[in-house]
Amino acid sequence: MLYNSTQNAKEVVSAAQAIAQGISKDGGLFVPQEFPKYDENTFKALLKTDYKGRAKKVFSDFLSDFTEEEISDCVEKAYTAQKFGGENPAPISYCNLDGTTLNILELWHGPTCAFKDMALQILPHFLTRAVRKTGEQKKSVILVATSGDTGKAAMAGFSDVPDTEVIVFYPHGGVSDAQRLQMTTQRGNNVHAVAVEGNFDDAQTGVKLLFGKAELAAELKEQGCAFSSANSINWGRLVPQIVYYFSAYADAVEKGRIQNGTEIVFSVPTGNFGDILAGYYAKLMGLPVKKFICASNSNNVLTDFINTGTYDRNREFHRTISPSMDILVSSNLERLLYEKTEHNSEKINEWMDALQEKGAYSIGRDIQDAVVSDFFGAWIDEIETQETISDVFNNYGYVLDPHSAVAYKALQKYRLMTSDETYGIVLSTASPFKFSDVVLRALYPDDYEGKVLTAFEAMDELSQKARIDIPQGLKELRGLPERESDIVAPGEMEKEVKKILAID
Ligand SMILES: *Cc1c(COP(=O)(O)O)cnc(C)c1O
Repeated sequence: MLYNSTQNAKEVVSAAQAIAQGISKDGGLFVPQEFPKYDENTFKALLKTDYKGRAKKVFSDFLSDFTEEEISDCVEKAYTAQKFGGENPAPISYCNLDGTTLNILELWHGPTCAFKDMALQILPHFLTRAVRKTGEQKKSVILVATSGDTGKAAMAGFSDVPDTEVIVFYPHGGVSDAQRLQMTTQRGNNVHAVAVEGNFDDAQTGVKLLFGKAELAAELKEQGCAFSSANSINWGRLVPQIVYYFSAYADAVEKGRIQNGTEIVFSVPTGNFGDILAGYYAKLMGLPVKKFICASNSNNVLTDFINTGTYDRNREFHRTISPSMDILVSSNLERLLYEKTEHNSEKINEWMDALQEKGAYSIGRDIQDAVVSDFFGAWIDEIETQETISDVFNNYGYVLDPHSAVAYKALQKYRLMTSDETYGIVLSTASPFKFSDVVLRALYPDDYEGKVLTAFEAMDELSQKARIDIPQGLKELRGLPERESDIVAPGEMEKEVKKILAID
């Protein structure tokens, strides 16, 4: 299987090249030339095997320049029961109330308690092998922009991986206490967290600019280094996310919750459009999905886009209680549009230029119709998110984190507005303990009014009151020494990278 750039149809690379490079030289994103199609027999085979078996099947179809042994080795090392707390790294929780069910796909059992682990535990294995296959470079310098969860997951995944250096940029003051602590306590001489004065979009734009600097690339090359990415712009981040859509479907069939072949809906808390795009790719491969609910918080640029066909980032940026979705420029939308325009890279260029120059573009009625045939957009405000956390706990005894609450409520809105009662699965992207303070105040508003809690106090209180255990990955942060992050302006990111890499 070969890959093109969304912004240049003539650019053709292998999977290993796509993963090693992270982003195309023209600024476009790598996309498969075509998608494998899974027929009934493939589904039957997927049903019979476990998560690892399903992952191996999907990876062997997309990463055709990796050997079976290499893929198997990557999968066995990444999805261990020890790292993911059980044999199935992505289990579904089924909660019942008066005949209604709540189906929660829990994607946060990995070491950093957010769904980013599903991809970032395996990306280092893919990347080191990809570099060996393609690379002249000795060392990969992995630049990461994070809205909170990718940073830690990348640092944990790459910590002390030979020949890699990870530099994470996170919005100063824009992440939860637990998220910040996770990054600043991470051990490993090759991983660095830097705070950027600005929001996630500033960090992401800054990183993309660094990728585009020819001089900087030349300087790195002299040192035997090359940039790569651990953000979902990297194909190696997306392909592992396709697996859990198939696996969740297969698990629901296996449990007798749905019949094989039945269409279902997935509700996905969305920021950079990576998670939900992986689901759409699964649909292109044959997974029976009626709709993807694209769930946003008050940064509702995607909801408006789906409803109007105009993407307009010229709007107020909100810092919300679901900070990992505080994003106004969703990078992976470009990949969806590439599919919906039947691989029209000229159109993509035009729109991405307009986004850069005017902050907005319109895709026209036909393409919008094509988007709406697969996606429903809904956004949930702060009060509704808090109410949802509380309602779901009171009704089902289940504690949702704020991002997952947004997705749950968006599914309810979808049902209300369309009267469609199709079986739905809500993707849960983080453990509630990553956002203990917010969750605690949503559940017990009166108890904490005016009280200030440290991240660990909030975790303890939540654990006691809701009677659930604090995940190991967060418990063990207590008492670890914090490394102070440098704080830089977006314009100083290049200087910071050079400082960390010790190049003048
Ligand atoms: C990253 C993240 C999201 C958004 O996922 P995208 O792939 O960026 O759309 C949602 N929830 C949590 C907890 C996250 O960490």
